[in-house]
Amino acid sequence: PDDIAHPVAVAMHVAGAGPALPLTPGLLDSFFEHDGQITKQAVRAITLSALAPMPGERLWDIGTGSGSIAIEWLLAHGDNQAIGFERRPERAARARANATNLGVDWLEVKEGSALEMLNEAPLPDAVFIGGGLSQALLEALWQRLPKGVRIVANAVTLESEALLAHWHQQAGGELLRLELASAAPIGTRRGWKASYPIVQWRGVR
Ligand code: SAH
Repeated sequence: PDDIAHPVAVAMHVAGAGPALPLTPGLLDSFFEHDGQITKQAVRAITLSALAPMPGERLWDIGTGSGSIAIEWLLAHGDNQAIGFERRPERAARARANATNLGVDWLEVKEGSALEMLNEAPLPDAVFIGGGLSQALLEALWQRLPKGVRIVANAVTLESEALLAHWHQQAGGELLRLELASAAPIGTRRGWKASYPIVQWRGVR
């Protein structure tokens, strides 16, 4: 990668001539082509740990964007499967290309509105909602999914946060708020530049 000065990037080069893929989730964002709509490294690592991929399991990644969550799910175990749902064709194409670049070209990406495509897809062991969150989607999933399926939803807007707060009251599970900040220049000194808080709901059907 270009960011060779990054300590993680340096570590990726110690093993041999080319870059190697670390085994723990939370790959650098630079491993993925994206248009800014990507679950960033730290939040992605926490999200994958909540999704808890086990060998042979299938993920539905709703609003797959760059495909980063589904790709890291597939990298966790060689026999995992993942279906991404993405309504924007150029992002669906990018997710497929990212999967191929990272060695997991069996990622399946369905183009269109997630709610309309859920009924045809083979049932998952876990579901991530990174886009397209709505009461209708949650209710459709609750109806369709068998007991035991893990669900993780990330919200960044007040509207989707309110939805998750309400859903948590009805359905139980855990509600987390992830607040990250990173040091950035303020003139000649530095200050904490906050990211938008992410509200994450984790539940089991
Ligand atoms: N987790 C992704 C980022 C998701 S951004 C990553 O790491 O790359 C949210 C995505 O959801 C966007 O790409 C948006 O186009 C998609 N989206 C929003 N509503 C949707 C819907 N109803 N059906 C399918 N995709 C949707």
